[in-house]
Amino acid sequence: MEIDIAVIGAGFGGLGAAIRLQQAGFTDYLVFDRGDDVGGTWRDNSYPGCACDVPSHLYSFSFAPNPGWSHTFSGQAEIWDYLRGCVDRFGIRPRLRLRHEVATATWDDKRQRWRLRTSGGEYSARVLICAAGPLSEPAEPDIPGFDAFTGTVFHSARWRHDHDLTGRRVAVIGTGASAVQFVPRIQPVVRRLTLFQRTPAWVMPRRSRPVSRLEQAAYRAVPGTQRVTRAGLYLLREAMAVGFLHPAVNRAAARVSLRTLRRQVTDPRLREKLTPRYAMGCKRVLISNDYWPALTRPNVDVVTAPVERIAPDGVVTAGGTHHPVDTIILGTGFHVTDPPVVSRIRGRDGRNLRAAWTPSMRAYRGTMVSGFPNLFFLLGPNTGLGHTSVVLMIEAQLRLVLATLRHLRDTGAGTAEPTAEAQRSWTEHVDRKLTGTVWQTGCASWYLDATGRNTTIWPGYATGFRLRLRRFRPADLRLAPAVSRPGEPERERADAV
Ligand code: NAP
Repeated sequence: MEIDIAVIGAGFGGLGAAIRLQQAGFTDYLVFDRGDDVGGTWRDNSYPGCACDVPSHLYSFSFAPNPGWSHTFSGQAEIWDYLRGCVDRFGIRPRLRLRHEVATATWDDKRQRWRLRTSGGEYSARVLICAAGPLSEPAEPDIPGFDAFTGTVFHSARWRHDHDLTGRRVAVIGTGASAVQFVPRIQPVVRRLTLFQRTPAWVMPRRSRPVSRLEQAAYRAVPGTQRVTRAGLYLLREAMAVGFLHPAVNRAAARVSLRTLRRQVTDPRLREKLTPRYAMGCKRVLISNDYWPALTRPNVDVVTAPVERIAPDGVVTAGGTHHPVDTIILGTGFHVTDPPVVSRIRGRDGRNLRAAWTPSMRAYRGTMVSGFPNLFFLLGPNTGLGHTSVVLMIEAQLRLVLATLRHLRDTGAGTAEPTAEAQRSWTEHVDRKLTGTVWQTGCASWYLDATGRNTTIWPGYATGFRLRLRRFRPADLRLAPAVSRPGEPERERADAV
């Protein structure tokens, strides 16, 4: 089937793309998702306690405010509902192709089309928007012995709701943003919880509160009040970036975190284990009021010895200590710097995006890749944020997508891709901006790829990224004239190539 635009992924990125395309009059598009519902990471991560650590008024589309948020920081179910609601609110359901996993997307230069092989059939599209998301592929740790484990193992992003944890001896591996949310929820029901910690996290208090009926009514009656709230949150969150860009500023926040740790954990040995020894912000700062208190309960052990292997009936740490468990929960994060979807995308001359991004991911404005015509990658390299909502970044990228599509239409050109020079200069700019930031202070984090380059974080204010992407720079793009296709009238050709 031939379509104009193919979108991979029906999470925040893919749905945002669909809505924006629709609004801009590019209505011949389809959104492919391997799942049986929309929602992306908010569909997949259903672990107990799953919630967002960015305020809801900001962690939502600017063009689709939700006056009904129940809390200032929402839980997974409510965010998922919000995304499902957007599908009907903007009438994009007919454009969804769920249970359609994209196996390959290959550029055909002669026809100037992307050929997509999906589990639901073959498609061809002029433009490909990859919105598969950086947090969609769970990363499983490279620890030997899982095959022989006789109990139950699952990743936090694939929670086994059919596996009752009541009375069980549970191992949790990992202490990141997911684990701090589910550990306090499972601790009261399990018999024994053994938490395997590699690096202690900086944790800040979570300041969520219910949104009152009065506030909700005000947001409904006078939408401007919600816009003002959002603007206030936007500015507040932007101010928080100062601490990441100038690490010395974070010392005050670190003191708040350590004071909280002292108050919540009175056992000096446990406190010692939980005290971070790296600059705050170098790894993602976690927010929770109940994570540290949960670790003080008598049924919890925090183990800091490295995990050596998995035995049939437990976890073995360095030195040979055996920790008997019947369930292992992996809170070990995602393939962020090596997203598997890129192996499925082949650009000009059959070049694999994985190869183009080895050893390190590079993209013009985090969105377009030289050698991959008419491809847009949402939340691509260096578009992540530690301080505010990535939805802001998605929307900025969508602005670039639409500007490029309009440019193609106006010039009559068939394809657009960034020049190698524009891509290099953007990458150099990002690398320069990273210098001196907290992410470069020497901790090992999932923001860094195998070469040690930070390919995840945008090293600046969200405002800076948005302003840059707002300025459309035709000179940065290489256009190719449109080819005529059999059975189609000859199209006007672009003269600028
Ligand atoms: P994560 O932050 O990547 O944390 C993974 C944890 O697993 C880390 O503690 C890591 O230790 C540990 N780990 C990894 N491999 C290990 C191994 N072989 N042995 C022992 N420990 C190992 O993953 P996550 O908690 O799932 O969160 C991922 C991201 O999802 C977050 O950073 C955030 O962007 C997003 N998230 C957001 C929210 C939210 O509220 N908005 C909630 C959940 C998740 P090291 O620290 O030593 O590497």
